[in-house]
Amino acid sequence: MDNCIFCKIIAGGIPATKVYEDEHATAFLDIRPVNPGHTLVVPREHHRNIFDIPSQTLSNVMPAVKKIAEALRASGLAEGVNIHINNEPVAGQVIFHSHLHVIPRIATDNHKLWHGREMAPGEADLVAQKIKSALGGK
Ligand code: 5GP
Ligand code: ZN
Repeated sequence: MDNCIFCKIIAGGIPATKVYEDEHATAFLDIRPVNPGHTLVVPREHHRNIFDIPSQTLSNVMPAVKKIAEALRASGLAEGVNIHINNEPVAGQVIFHSHLHVIPRIATDNHKLWHGREMAPGEADLVAQKIKSALGGK
């Protein structure tokens, strides 16, 4: 797609530090890494995010995500990984070509995950009902 920076990177029109490619995905280092080795796995097809990418296209990039995770651990850059997708601006998305972050984690990085809270009585049932209703169930 015109004016999409990730489409341009995939096509080779803009430089990026690519670490892996297959027929479905390109993987390159994030220009502003959370930790060294922070890699973006990007479907070759242009889709905005989780809401419009076909399920099969998403499935097709998961082998690349797994390969990157394994390589990060085997390289010693990671003891574990977070795999993350931001979808829509409210969730922090800034590049509107779907992509997965594979973020290496080491015990000493001191990064925190968000914290949950206790649910109110009855909250789980109410929330689950909304989701199941949207899914077409009862
Ligand atoms: P998101 O849309 O998932 O919130 O964030 C996009 C990510 O892409 C950010 O982590 C940002 O550092 C990275 N990014 C933005 N522009 C470029 C670029 O031109 N090259 C590379 N390699 N990464 C980029
Ligand atoms: Zn694109």
